[in-house]
Amino acid sequence: MNLDGTKEDCITCRINRGEATCGPGGVLYRDRLWVLEHAIEPIPMVGWLVLKTYRHVETFADLTEDEAITFGPLTRLVTRAMTQVLEPVKVYLNLYAEAKDFPHLHVHLIPRFADTPPDHRGPHIFQYLSAAVRSGQNGGDIEEAARVAAQIRARIDESLGGAALRDMGPR
Ligand SMILES: [Zn+2]
Repeated sequence: MNLDGTKEDCITCRINRGEATCGPGGVLYRDRLWVLEHAIEPIPMVGWLVLKTYRHVETFADLTEDEAITFGPLTRLVTRAMTQVLEPVKVYLNLYAEAKDFPHLHVHLIPRFADTPPDHRGPHIFQYLSAAVRSGQNGGDIEEAARVAAQIRARIDESLGGAALRDMGPR
């Protein structure tokens, strides 16, 4: 483990350290504990976000007190911003972190729209992710994803009085 709590060869840690490409639109929110980004390419759909711990941790049970305490308010803030920008019926929260090469804790924040087909709702929404991974093709327009990401970042920033990226500097 590195001094900043990241793991050298973990893909998510590498993205967190700025060594690998993050999702379209860049970082949407960051503090010393959490990083919010759009899902990386191939994206499952426009507006599918991922909230992850900065440090390398693999289960919710292993969160620190600070990470656990900040998770609720931050997730509410983010899902509110997503709701304002995307106008979904709901925003789903899912945490698995067990796909190959992605054990680093990341919570999928997924908009479920009025026109999401019934057979793609609930846990079946992950069919969009498996289709993207299987085909290697984005499940939505990548420029639109970057635009939406910027809009969500602006909403978060507005709610926090300009602090969405307050901890972007060196750690
Ligand atoms: Zn990691």
